[in-house]
Amino acid sequence: MVEITPPKYVRSVLHKLKAHGYSSCIVGGCVRDLILGVQPHDWDVATGALPDQVLALFPDAIPTGIRHGTVTVRSGGQFVEVTTFRTDGDYADHRHPDTVSFVGDLNTDLSRRDFTINAIAVTSEGVIIDPFHGIADIQAHVIRCVGDPAKRFEEDALRMLRAFRFSSRLGFEIEAETFRAVEEHAGLSAGLSAERVRDEMEKILLTAHPETLYTVIRLGLLDTFLNGHLSRDAGLLRIATLRKKALPRWALFCTVLMADECISSVRGFLTSLRLDGRTIRCCSDACEILSKSPPSEFPAWKRLLNRYGVDSVECAALCWDAIYGGDAESMLKKVLKSGECFSLRNLAVNGKDLLPLGYKGRKLGEMLDFLLDYVIDYPENNQRDLLLSLVIPSDDA
Ligand code: ATP
Ligand code: MG
Repeated sequence: MVEITPPKYVRSVLHKLKAHGYSSCIVGGCVRDLILGVQPHDWDVATGALPDQVLALFPDAIPTGIRHGTVTVRSGGQFVEVTTFRTDGDYADHRHPDTVSFVGDLNTDLSRRDFTINAIAVTSEGVIIDPFHGIADIQAHVIRCVGDPAKRFEEDALRMLRAFRFSSRLGFEIEAETFRAVEEHAGLSAGLSAERVRDEMEKILLTAHPETLYTVIRLGLLDTFLNGHLSRDAGLLRIATLRKKALPRWALFCTVLMADECISSVRGFLTSLRLDGRTIRCCSDACEILSKSPPSEFPAWKRLLNRYGVDSVECAALCWDAIYGGDAESMLKKVLKSGECFSLRNLAVNGKDLLPLGYKGRKLGEMLDFLLDYVIDYPENNQRDLLLSLVIPSDDA
């Protein structure tokens, strides 16, 4: 039998609800993770109490998702999401229920959930409620829809991507009927918001099996964002050797997609997925940098740093190591630690120094670039007087 005991601050929320006559349980990802022996990263409580009743019981609670019946309760210095048992109405747009109704019954709430492994509850008394045999599926390492997969994907097409996210994270197989339904309904993903798709993609990229994206792409789940499908998963397998940070993983993913001409521009692809400006900039820089081999000498590293900035070069160095298994990252660290000048910001002369010598406008910029280029090759000569002695006064003076 599986032993499930939530921490004290969660138990106190469950007990307070219970003491006031409301049924309550922990549910969803936290129960799945506990059964798997993994520490849950958050705790979701479901209850028969209506949102207003939860708010009345916990005066400093915040109504974070009141339309869906979610209230965030503070307990023992931590936050717990408390959601009223609910059922979802029709999904005309394949992504949002037209209506949400609160129900008094836990089983109805469990039946609206996506997969059997996510539809297990444990009551405040420690009783496990598992009407869809999620524990058996956890033990068999299977992702299976609650109810008819075709219907569940028609309601919310994001569930197809979620199936791959959980499969990738947990190393579970997607059960045959559920998989077939994805093959048949992949086209519905075209109606999803870019942000929801992006979040699922990022979660898959950050698992130990980012190569799952090969199948996600092959089935057509990302067709809205791509020109074609990958020819093989070899490139994606390299992503797993990167540390679990979003930026380098997106960068290497984009490089793999570019190499197979699945995308024609990194910037365009990431913009269509509504990624943030820094990720877009670093990934498109990194892809450009990665078209060449890693430098072996300090000056070439410094020229990259000057042109692209530290973030982008760092990102490229991590990707180089994932591709070639080299030591680009440690080499870059050495360059940065040396404190040697690689940008105009650290050059020993600036524009003001060159004005009396007759330089202005474009010519001034060119002279500063010339001096920087010189200092990149001769770092010990980054001295004001020495550099000024190299400057021939301009004819315009
Ligand atoms: P994670 O550990 O990644 O947070 P999780 O299972 O908690 O995994 P969430 O996205 O936080 O996943 O969702 C919490 C729970 O809500 C799920 O376990 C599932 O029961 C339910 N759920 C979330 N999204 C959907 C959806 N699109 N359709 C049906 N049920 C969903
Ligand atoms: Mg969660």
